[in-house]
Amino acid sequence: MKKLIIKKTEELEEWRRNLKSNINFIPTMGNLHYGHQKLISTAKNDNSNFNLVSIFINPLQFDNKSDLENYPKTIDNDIKISFSSGADVIFIPATEDIYPSNNKNIKFLKASIELSSALCGLNRTGHFDGVCTVVYRLLNIIKPKNLYLGEKDWQQLLILKNLVQTNKLNISIKSIPTQRDFDGIPLSSRNINLSQKERKLIRFFSNELLIAKNNFKKEKKINLKEITKKLSEEKILIEYLEHLHPYTLKNLEVDDNISILAGAIRCGEIRLIDHVFLMKRSPIIAIDGPAGSGKSTVTKLIANKLKLLYLDTGAMYRALSWLLIKEKIDYKKEKQLNNILKDISIVFKSNTNSNQDVFINNYCVTEEIRSQKISSIVSQISAIKEVRKFLVEEQRKIGKSGGLVAEGRDIGTTVFPDAELKIFLTASIDERAKRRKSDKKSKDSNEIDLNKLKELIKKRDFEDSNRESSPLIKANDAIEIITDGFSINEVVDKIIDLYNDKIPKEIQIQ
Ligand code: C5P
Repeated sequence: MKKLIIKKTEELEEWRRNLKSNINFIPTMGNLHYGHQKLISTAKNDNSNFNLVSIFINPLQFDNKSDLENYPKTIDNDIKISFSSGADVIFIPATEDIYPSNNKNIKFLKASIELSSALCGLNRTGHFDGVCTVVYRLLNIIKPKNLYLGEKDWQQLLILKNLVQTNKLNISIKSIPTQRDFDGIPLSSRNINLSQKERKLIRFFSNELLIAKNNFKKEKKINLKEITKKLSEEKILIEYLEHLHPYTLKNLEVDDNISILAGAIRCGEIRLIDHVFLMKRSPIIAIDGPAGSGKSTVTKLIANKLKLLYLDTGAMYRALSWLLIKEKIDYKKEKQLNNILKDISIVFKSNTNSNQDVFINNYCVTEEIRSQKISSIVSQISAIKEVRKFLVEEQRKIGKSGGLVAEGRDIGTTVFPDAELKIFLTASIDERAKRRKSDKKSKDSNEIDLNKLKELIKKRDFEDSNRESSPLIKANDAIEIITDGFSINEVVDKIIDLYNDKIPKEIQIQ
C-alpha cells in the first residue's frame, strides 16, 4: 500500500470519497513519542482498516498563548515515526484548512458541562470546547470507524466519548493505557521542555500517586490531605488533586468499586497531569440467561480474551445434584440436606484441553453432570433455599477479589449485584434447542430429539424463572443481548466492547 501525506482538506475529502475500506483515526498534535507509537500500532494490529494519523496543533484548545508558541514542532520526525508505527496516511492540515475564515459552517462546540466542570476544566477555560471543536471537525472530514485515544488524558477521553454519543456519530472510541517513561512519569509531548529539577518533581508526584494506589489495594481508602502535605513539602504546586468517580467525575458513593485519583501540578511554566485508577476489587462480569442461550461458550471465550477467571455456577448446581443422587439423599428433608451441605467441597481445575474439570468431594464429575438425568433434576434442586444459600456463599468466596466472569441465572441479581458489567444473554427457544442438540459436550445431543429437547428446555426455563428464591430474571441494570442470528464471535466482541466502555484499559492490565 502506498503511504500518503495529505495537507489539504479538499484533497483528503476527495481521497476519502474514493476509499472503500474503514478508517482507524489517530489524532495527534505532533512531537510524537512512544505513547503515540503505541496508539498507531495498536490500531494497526486491531483490524485491517486504513490507519490515518493527523498532525495538527489546534490553537483553540490552548488557553495560554505562550504555551501554544512553545509547543514543540518536530514534523519531519513525526512523519517518520507515524509511518514506521503503522500509519497508512498522514493528514497535516494548516490552521486555515481546519478553520477557513470564509467557511461559516464550522461548528464551534461546547464540551459536556458536567464532565468539563471538574479537574482540568476548572482552570482551563475553553480548553475542552476547543478539543471538541477540532475533533468534531476532523471526524466530519475523515469519517472514521474507530477513534484511538490515550487514557493519559482521561477527562478528554470521557468528553470525546460524550461528544460521539450526543452527536450520534457511528464511531467506536478505543483507548490505550497511559504510557510511562523509564522513571514512571507519563509520556507527554511537553516533557522535552522539562528541566532536570522539574522532571524530578514530576517524578515525585507520579510516584506519590502510585504509592496511593498500592496502599489503596490494602487499605481500601486514601488520605488526600496526607498526599497534599507530602507534595507541598517538596514545593510542588498543586492545581488540583481529586478522588472521584472515574466516569462521571463526580464525588464517590460508598459502594463505588473503581475510582480515579487525578491531579495537576505546576512546575515553573509547565503544567502536568497524571492519574491512577483505584479499585477495591478487580472487575466482575455477570452473564445470566436461560438454558442454551450460549452463555458457557461466550463466557469461556471472554474469560480467555480478557484474562479473567471463569466461573460456571450452573456446574456447581449440577455437581451438587449429582452428589445428592449418588448419596441417595432425600433433599426434601431439611436435616438430611443440611448434614451433607456441611461437608461439601466444589473445586474447578484447568485440564489439559484448556477447559475446566469440576470436582465435588474429590470426584471428577465434568462429564456426568451434563447428562439428561442431571439436566432434568437440577432445576428442582437449585430451587431449594438451603442449596442456594450454600452455593451463593461458595461463589462469593471464589469472586471475593474479583477478576472474574461468572455465568448463571442469578449472578447479576444475587451473587454479584455490584458487578461492573451485567449481561442478560438470551435467544429464541428454537435457536436454543438447536444449539443444545449440536453441543458435543451436552449429552442431550444424542439422547433426545429436537422437539423433546425444546419441551425440556421450556420446562427448565419455567422452573428457573418461577422459583421463589432468586429466580432467573434480568437485573435492572443488565444489558440484554438476543443472540439469534449472531455468531459467537460477534456476541463476544459486543460484550468486550461493553466491558471496555465500563473499565479503563489501565485497570484491565493490572
Ligand atoms: O447453566 P446450566 O444449564 O448448567 O445450569 C443448570 C441449572 O442450574 C439451571 O437450569 C438452574 O436451575 C441452576 N442454576 C441456578 N443458578 C445459577 C446457575 C444455575 O439456579 N446461578
